[in-house]
Amino acid sequence: MNKVGIIGGGVTGLCAAYYLHKEGLDVTVIDEGDLTSGCSYLNAGMIVPSHVVPLAAPGVVSKGLKWMFKPDSPFAFHFSAHKELIRWLWLFNRSAKEKNVQQAVPYLRDISWLSKSLYRQFSREGGFDFGYAERGLMMLYQTAEAEKEEKITADIANKAGVKATILSAGEVQKLEPELKVDVRGGIYFPGDAHLDPGKFMYDMKLHLKNERVHFILGNKVTGLKVNNNKKVLLKTLQGNEEYDEAVIACGAASGMLLKTLPFSLPIQGGKGYSLTLKEVPKNIHIPSLLIEGKVAVTPMGNNLRVSGTMEIGNNSGRINERRLLGILHTLFQFYPELKEAKIDAKQAVSGLRPCSPDGLPYIGRLKKFPGIVIAAGHGMMGMSLGPATGKLVSEIISGKERSMNINAFDPGRFA
Ligand SMILES: Cc1cc2nc3c(=O)[nH]c(=O)nc-3n(C[C@H](O)[C@H](O)[C@H](O)COP(=O)(O)OP(=O)(O)OC[C@H]3O[C@@H](n4cnc5c(N)ncnc54)[C@H](O)[C@@H]3O)c2cc1C
Repeated sequence: MNKVGIIGGGVTGLCAAYYLHKEGLDVTVIDEGDLTSGCSYLNAGMIVPSHVVPLAAPGVVSKGLKWMFKPDSPFAFHFSAHKELIRWLWLFNRSAKEKNVQQAVPYLRDISWLSKSLYRQFSREGGFDFGYAERGLMMLYQTAEAEKEEKITADIANKAGVKATILSAGEVQKLEPELKVDVRGGIYFPGDAHLDPGKFMYDMKLHLKNERVHFILGNKVTGLKVNNNKKVLLKTLQGNEEYDEAVIACGAASGMLLKTLPFSLPIQGGKGYSLTLKEVPKNIHIPSLLIEGKVAVTPMGNNLRVSGTMEIGNNSGRINERRLLGILHTLFQFYPELKEAKIDAKQAVSGLRPCSPDGLPYIGRLKKFPGIVIAAGHGMMGMSLGPATGKLVSEIISGKERSMNINAFDPGRFA
């Protein structure tokens, strides 16, 4: 039986383990942490077929440059002389064109739809109970400028077959009867869903452990090598491990690890903050993105998760108070009554979204190192795309027909 080592036990790694194990392979998940925290736990839990437009789109660079000098802005580039960061920024700028958007739309749509259908299956499977709900998502705006931009996105989505409806302020309020929403209007994407990511990760870990998938935790993989016998050697802090195939699912750290092969995978951490307001007296019903401040709000039972910011080039886990206050300021602007909610800012956490420069994930085998399969770079959509990525990885490794065309996700596209 083929032995597969998965490096990284975030949502991507665990979903890959799930589908590879289903194919009858001998699977081991290796993670430097203990699988209780990080990006895959703290995210907003939005399952977003609405996000057919990649981050690298026209206008993003100029907006990012404008925001760069605002300490509480939702988007920031932290320049440093790191060769990888400079190359990433150059590739991002090159990708932020209309052509990239047009090419990306059908791929993002198809992988999102595939993933959502798999989440739906999990939600119906015994042992999985993770607050999955298909109530759609609203993009809410307060200004004419944001309205104009969001209507363009809605138009792109509708043309791609992803339903989007324009709502007046009154229509938004009708969908959120519990508390006042202060908006000019919004776009409603009925095909989106949401879940509690921490619960999904917990259920998935338990399921894999019950299925006797192996876990090596608290051990960092420091290097990769393909031996003469074509097996993949993982150098770890606790000795070497050998596998027939290795899946690189280390999120934002994937590029660093691949350098040891050597293989260059442009990937940067996009730092985001997340704060869960506990037991809010009045909660929202439909997850929403508050456009001007780029803040995501998601109801999770009686709690409300608020998250935001995208800082490229700042990998520290430190919480920047100004940015956190910027997130809360946006929240109160859209939902003034939430000022009454109990907020414990000390509970704020941060995570690094694994961002590729063109906004598309990397899913595929390395041509030069065939024993190595990449599953990384999902940026702000990694939770949404976890199950589809895991399934595609299992299809690649077991040589089965792919559920969709994955040419655009080729990890060698920038080599
Ligand atoms: C604030 C915020 C909100 C978000 N909201 C959403 C959302 O609403 N919807 C959505 O779809 N996505 C969202 N995302 C993005 C999503 O969370 C990520 O894209 C996704 O979690 C990435 O998963 P991953 O498994 O690829 O990486 P990670 O979750 O980062 O997991 C990587 C794992 O690899 C391990 N690792 C790294 N290096 C090594 C090594 N050398 N050896 C061993 N182990 C290693 C790490 O310990 C970690 O456990 C959000 C992200 C943030 C920060």
